[in-house]
Amino acid sequence: MKRDALAGTAEYEVYALRYATHTARHSAENYLGHDPHGNRAMPLDFYFWVIRNAQRTVLVDTGFKPALAAKRGRDYFGEPAALLAKLGIDAAEIEDVVITHMHYDHAGNLDAFPRARFHLQESELAFCTGRCMCHGALRGPFEPQDVAQAVFRLFEGRLHFVDGDSELFPGITLHQVGGHTPGLQVVRVATQRGHVVLASDAAHYWDNLRARRPFPIVIDVGRMLDAHALIERLADGPDHIVPGHDPLVRSTFRALPGEPDILAIHEAPLELEETSAPQPVRADTASAAANATATALAN
Ligand SMILES: [Zn+2]
Ligand SMILES: [Zn+2]
Repeated sequence: MKRDALAGTAEYEVYALRYATHTARHSAENYLGHDPHGNRAMPLDFYFWVIRNAQRTVLVDTGFKPALAAKRGRDYFGEPAALLAKLGIDAAEIEDVVITHMHYDHAGNLDAFPRARFHLQESELAFCTGRCMCHGALRGPFEPQDVAQAVFRLFEGRLHFVDGDSELFPGITLHQVGGHTPGLQVVRVATQRGHVVLASDAAHYWDNLRARRPFPIVIDVGRMLDAHALIERLADGPDHIVPGHDPLVRSTFRALPGEPDILAIHEAPLELEETSAPQPVRADTASAAANATATALAN
């Protein structure tokens, strides 16, 4: 087969790698407004993603560092470079990293990829270096050292600004959706089972998307709802959408043997069991959850 023909039909493996979690979390922290189903236990997982085939490997987001887990009260499982090694990937050799947005849990390890070019929406860097960062409520999910690292990459010639929608490589496209942050982008990838969309924080949980109930960290509610609709159009089915923080990802997709935190997104989903619905929390823990909301919202 000619090279052009191969390029036109490029397909990739896609993996979600869970590197941290926030277990002491409740549904009131995960929906804009209130949760009509009561304040339920609703843990939040942290992932980054790998896209690869024989021609290339692309990383989507970089996770945060262990020190940030301590600062923000998250449970940390492993640095991204260590998790990548389990897939046989050397972080030092990665050439392309998509940054979906600059929040601390997505852009906290730019210095761990010394050869990489970082693909970031221009409006995202403008946002996190601009006047909106005067407001504590808006800068809470950002870390200044991460923003500084992005500026360093810019001056090293290793920051590629994306403006709107763009084909990164054959079979991999970037789509600016905004809503959660102005420059949030999602990634659409061709796989053996169709087009998968890595939604990142355009959909923290499948339920945010399916119920059209946005996550509460949002700069533009209308654009976030538009993003939900766009993601559904871009994906080849409901199970082709990969939410950014949903523990159900781990029960929906097959894990690598012996690696429960590495999920093969390009393979057909497992049969869903109805045992994973969040459980109601007792009244005494609900008030503690409400007190924790302010700090937990920093994500
Ligand atoms: Zn975010
Ligand atoms: Zn996030």
